[in-house]
Amino acid sequence: MHEMSLAESVREIVDDTARASGARRVLSVRLEIGQLAQVEVDAMRFAFEVVQRGSLADTARLDIVEVDGTAWCMSCSQPVLITRRGDPCPQCGSHQLQVTGGDRMRVLDIEIE
Ligand SMILES: [Zn+2]
Repeated sequence: MHEMSLAESVREIVDDTARASGARRVLSVRLEIGQLAQVEVDAMRFAFEVVQRGSLADTARLDIVEVDGTAWCMSCSQPVLITRRGDPCPQCGSHQLQVTGGDRMRVLDIEIE
């Protein structure tokens, strides 16, 4: 489950940011997960619960914002929504797609005190 190492990097980012701001603890973490980022949302929640223990984010709430996968279809010359990498264009069935969004995971913001 690669979500575990991803969750560890999230915890590091959160911990570093919180420490740099002189926070005592982290109240919540908002995480953006693109539909094409190959990250399982449920697995990510579980992994974060495990790695947050003992960190400044020990009791932090994890909010996950899921973002649609978007691509540019070269045949249609317009942006389209796709749910998986390698999916054909939903309009014309072409595979000439360039992924333009929803392909990454990042920490949007954190709430500290
Ligand atoms: Zn198309």
